[in-house]
Amino acid sequence: MTKFSDLKLSPKVLKAIDEAGYTEPTPIQAGAIPPALEGKDVLGIAQTGTGKTASFTLPLITMLARGRARARMPRSLVLCPTRELAAQVAENFDTYAKHVKLTKALLIGGVSFKEQDTLIDKGVDVLIATPGRLLDHFERGKLILNDVKVMVVDEADRMLDMGFIPDIERIFGLTPFTRQTLFFSATMAPEIERITNTFLSNPERIEVARQATTNKNITQGVLEFKASRKDREGSEKRKVLRALIDAEGEKCTNAIIFCNRKMDVDIVAKSLKKYGYDAAPIHGDLDQSQRTRTLDGFREGTLRFLVASDVAARGLDVPSVSHVFNFDVPSHAEDYVHRIGRTGRAGRDGTAIMICVPRDEKNLADVERLVQHEIPRLDNPLGKGTETAPAAEATKPADDGDKPKSRSRSRSRKKDDAPKADAEEQADVQAEAPAKESKPRSEKPKSDKPKSDKPKSEDRGEKQNRSRDDNRNSNRGRNDNRGGRGNDRGGNKVVGLGDHTPEFIELSFADRPDS
Ligand code: AMP
Repeated sequence: MTKFSDLKLSPKVLKAIDEAGYTEPTPIQAGAIPPALEGKDVLGIAQTGTGKTASFTLPLITMLARGRARARMPRSLVLCPTRELAAQVAENFDTYAKHVKLTKALLIGGVSFKEQDTLIDKGVDVLIATPGRLLDHFERGKLILNDVKVMVVDEADRMLDMGFIPDIERIFGLTPFTRQTLFFSATMAPEIERITNTFLSNPERIEVARQATTNKNITQGVLEFKASRKDREGSEKRKVLRALIDAEGEKCTNAIIFCNRKMDVDIVAKSLKKYGYDAAPIHGDLDQSQRTRTLDGFREGTLRFLVASDVAARGLDVPSVSHVFNFDVPSHAEDYVHRIGRTGRAGRDGTAIMICVPRDEKNLADVERLVQHEIPRLDNPLGKGTETAPAAEATKPADDGDKPKSRSRSRSRKKDDAPKADAEEQADVQAEAPAKESKPRSEKPKSDKPKSDKPKSEDRGEKQNRSRDDNRNSNRGRNDNRGGRGNDRGGNKVVGLGDHTPEFIELSFADRPDS
């Protein structure tokens, strides 16, 4: 078995690894670190949770230990698709580089250009950035990429989803031809294959098994559910969710409930609370103190249900989550892998249950294709469908919890069914109303592939990138000349990922001496 000490990492890095409590390298680390240290290009096919961040951070720190950065000329570049990921990489960097004198800068939305310029002006060894923000700095003439010796591209498949590939190509063109490239992607879509063929030179290819396909200790299930009426889908789905939670009983010590859209995160959390479940929401639009309270509560076990969006849950590392509920089938299949990977960690058992409405069947097929197995179908704990639910519902006192007692007491069983539905709708409507009020527009999915998990400003950045993408596609000839400064970015200066910084990111940097 490979040991960290076999990998030729610097003693100071080994010391930091030891202090982080890692006993042995993960497969992606054992595979990627040796060729990276030899100066070879690396193509790592691995996803979050495999230890891939350390697989490029550790050799990077070892290689950069010698030499010094010059003003405005970073010596290495790490590109990440989202600021959350960029912040996580920066956090990893701080952990592993704590015994080494290296400087870093994080170029993401939500941090003022001025602050970032000051850091870059001093010279940084590692520049961690999202593509849009990096190009903004470049175009303002504040950044010179001629001295980049190592360029890392993290989560390239997500970059592709977000329309960042033209930016990545351009950035490749701005760095020296002699640079070393460490390139990571969870999947190898044809477009990703093309990029690696174009920009990587004879890379060492390391592919590690997908976590979800190998993690046998997660019991998975999906409930295919059709609402009795389209306009009742939301409330009936929430009722099904409650029934699924109840059916798990005490086995469900805590759970993360994932929704595709921020609006649903709010609604589901409110609705659960209303029905007496200990639940709180977390997504990028909530204020800092609320996010801290919620995350701390969930980590410490005082909060049982965390209702989350994908991005919000990314920075979250809680070792013992008994259940993951997917209120929606994720629209990006890889998100399913990330989501269910929140349970069954560190050798524990976990359960992942998903609700699929007819409209999500295509997404479900994508997920099953990705994980390469069929997810077992579950029976509806409420019976055939919620239209047949009242009899089953009657046995579930929790569902009656906040309904006016006088109503249910004063009616016969048969008559009771209809008012029950009414009362439930009312409860849910009440739950929905404030959420809708507070976020009127931004939450509406703009397409059948909602990306509403990103903060509003991030959506803007993404849209701009998409339109740049279109420009570039229609100007492919011009863009093939990648070394020059493009002028296709128009007057849009607010590219990056926006003004809003989710609070857990700020927290992770708050008490670091070098940031
Ligand atoms: P990543 O795939 O980079 O997101 O890493 C997933 C998690 O694994 C992080 O919480 C890391 O701190 C942790 N990790 C990385 N390398 C190791 C290792 N060799 N042993 C144990 N945990 C690790």
